[in-house]
Amino acid sequence: MKIAFIGLGNMGAGMAANLVKAGHNVRAFDLSEVALGQAKANGCDTFPTAKEAVQGVDAVVSMLPNGGIVSRVFRSDVIGHAPQDAILMDCSTIDVATARDVEKAAADAGYAMVDAPVSGGIAAASGGTLTFMVGGSDDAFARAEPVLSAMGKAVIHAGGAGAGQAAKICNNMLLGIHMIGTCEAFTMAQKLGLDPQTFYDISSVSSGQNWSMTSYCPVPGVGPQSPADNGYKGGFATALMLKDLKLAMEAAESAGMETPLGAHAKALYEEFAEGHSDLDFSAIIKSL
Ligand code: NAD
Repeated sequence: MKIAFIGLGNMGAGMAANLVKAGHNVRAFDLSEVALGQAKANGCDTFPTAKEAVQGVDAVVSMLPNGGIVSRVFRSDVIGHAPQDAILMDCSTIDVATARDVEKAAADAGYAMVDAPVSGGIAAASGGTLTFMVGGSDDAFARAEPVLSAMGKAVIHAGGAGAGQAAKICNNMLLGIHMIGTCEAFTMAQKLGLDPQTFYDISSVSSGQNWSMTSYCPVPGVGPQSPADNGYKGGFATALMLKDLKLAMEAAESAGMETPLGAHAKALYEEFAEGHSDLDFSAIIKSL
């Protein structure tokens, strides 16, 4: 297939490279010359504008920083410029309302579009092991699925327009909460005289077990290799966790509900992000 890829940063670079490896002709556009140079080295054709990149394609994939940019790029450079039978996929993490608005604008112009945010970081993007949560019609999902499969290990249909973003922010709100809870439990165990490895051996097979503990332990030297073993570098930046918690709080407000633990997690990450925004989000253990 001919696929336009817009936004080849930390995540998009590896994702586009996996589309090339799967045999697709990838037409890349990014505002950054450095990103475009990397895309070229990875086998993509590069274009000076998004409008040129989407000419004659079968599909458009975007991986952009936020909803404002996604809305601008799709409304001004994709809709009305890509062929009308191209399937449009936005994989960025953005707010549910914007995802729905952009999908409606695309549908009004005759395009099928899905929101398809991902779980998994930069390593999963380059390794092709992302999980995609997809919002859109059955038909749009069926058309997006083969393209997304070339970049991930799981592609799950979450529901109609915006449902992928809703799943993503609910998941990441839960992740922020259980990471902080895990950090508190390990810190308290140590203060009470327990060896962290011993606490891990007990809790990882007891009812406190969770992903932050057993796949991404915030204590160095405990559990499988994680950013804690690398000085909290790499992994999922605190700034991105804070971004997702802010999106979650906006969504909760629009849904008319209170999320006391989500709100508290957002406040704690907001405080920790001052001076630590580049560190992996498990580094919040340092603040306890
Ligand atoms: P990034 O900042 O590394 O990449 C974004 C890219 O978009 C940059 O190369 C930038 O130049 C480009 N860009 C910005 N405006 C543009 C425009 N108008 N037209 C074309 N290109 C433009 O960010 P990232 O870490 O790759 O994240 C991308 C998205 O993926 C975000 O929505 C983020 O929340 C989400 N995400 C990131 C991770 C992660 O671990 N990094 C994990 C899951 C989801």
